[in-house]
Amino acid sequence: MGDDEVMAVDGVPQSRELVTEIPGPRSRELAARRLAAVAPGASSSFPAYVERASGAVVEDVDGNRFIDLGSGIAVTGVGHAAPYVVEAVREQVARFTHTCFTVAPYEPYVAVCEELNALTPGDHAKTSVLVNSGAEAVENAVKIARHATGRPAVVVFDHAFHGRTNLTMAMTAKTMPYKAGFGPFAPEVYRAPVSYPFRDPEGMTGAEAAQRAIDQIEVQVEAGSVACVVVEPIQGEGGFIVPAPGFLPALAAWCRQNGVVFVADEVQSGFGRTGDRFACDDEAVVPDLVATAKGIAAGMPLAAVTGRAELMGAVHAGGLGGTYGGNPVACAAALAAIRTMRELDLPAAARGIGGVLAARLGALRAQYPGIGDVRGRGAMFAVEFVRPGDRAPDAGATREVVAACHSAGVIVLSCGTWGNVIRLLPPFVIPEGLLLDGLGVLEGAVGEVLGQS
Ligand SMILES: *Cc1c(COP(=O)(O)O)cnc(C)c1O
Repeated sequence: MGDDEVMAVDGVPQSRELVTEIPGPRSRELAARRLAAVAPGASSSFPAYVERASGAVVEDVDGNRFIDLGSGIAVTGVGHAAPYVVEAVREQVARFTHTCFTVAPYEPYVAVCEELNALTPGDHAKTSVLVNSGAEAVENAVKIARHATGRPAVVVFDHAFHGRTNLTMAMTAKTMPYKAGFGPFAPEVYRAPVSYPFRDPEGMTGAEAAQRAIDQIEVQVEAGSVACVVVEPIQGEGGFIVPAPGFLPALAAWCRQNGVVFVADEVQSGFGRTGDRFACDDEAVVPDLVATAKGIAAGMPLAAVTGRAELMGAVHAGGLGGTYGGNPVACAAALAAIRTMRELDLPAAARGIGGVLAARLGALRAQYPGIGDVRGRGAMFAVEFVRPGDRAPDAGATREVVAACHSAGVIVLSCGTWGNVIRLLPPFVIPEGLLLDGLGVLEGAVGEVLGQS
């Protein structure tokens, strides 16, 4: 298949088109059914119900077409209904859907592990285990680190998000909505300050921020008790916080000196999202273990831990796994997504998108004092809204801008400890015209909410 065919998207035209108010009548009917049937704890941020999607466009049940600048939270980087993925899933689903890898093994599981071992940072010997979700991957990374070191403690950071299971709730920083009312939480989790250049003292370097974190760690727990440090190389839910250069290498060095396993949670930042294969590649940081999910399989539920063969090998047979972990259909999707990433050089596409985002969002910041910071890398960029004149978070303006974008046909997501960040995670295959149209909508929404300046 040539590039043209890979890029071909049939089904949903690649343009923004609104034919009803948002949400339309059919979406409102579904919302009413949902109210009676779906637990309110499982909420949605976007008001329209999806009918189908391809490439960078989502069509709702009323026939409205939205530009997707969220990719289902950094998942469908290869685009919706990516041709290789559709073909591979169809083919695998017809062959067999499940045997349970812990019962009867199959090739796609092995092939995904081979790909992950080759793609993740570092050229040391690696092995992988496949699971179902990002939280499960992070939790398994901790299990492996504890088993390999014989130590109990886990170090995480302010603004961290690692998932919603009991252990990963403890590792996640923000209480509402992730933790409130759900305790007691798992013990032996210690939290240190991250490098957050926009809110750190002016001029603080990455190395200084790492030393500040290390000092905090060492007053809370002796290094000899620490199994692992778990860090998102660019924080996701916490606000797309890009640490100052030098922060991650200094942390990794402290881990090495103290026999601590360095775990990169690349669940959101991995698979080409930041313009490298993994966000750690930017500073040539080589983690001992890498947790991956989201972008791995174009939306099929799959996640993994990949790491040093000797650490992974510490765990006894049967100590890792699960009924669905490494499901064959999800593995087929992952292999197709990785093939797409390679053939279309999607990290390069992400860097191109990053150039456009940096320029347009940078201009927006210059225009509006209500935008405190614009940051990110590749196709992972964010805008932080603050009260003009100081850095007080402005969640209200953020909510209004998001709602205005939705009403105008663009899917954007918010994030941030204070809910004051809009994050952009476009699919790598988005045509430039569509990206510019989406950004135009965002700029218009910002103008509406913050007022022309
Ligand atoms: C989303 C996310 C997780 C949790 O992944 P799930 O698949 O939702 O369990 C963990 N870590 C990071 C960095 C994430 O962005």
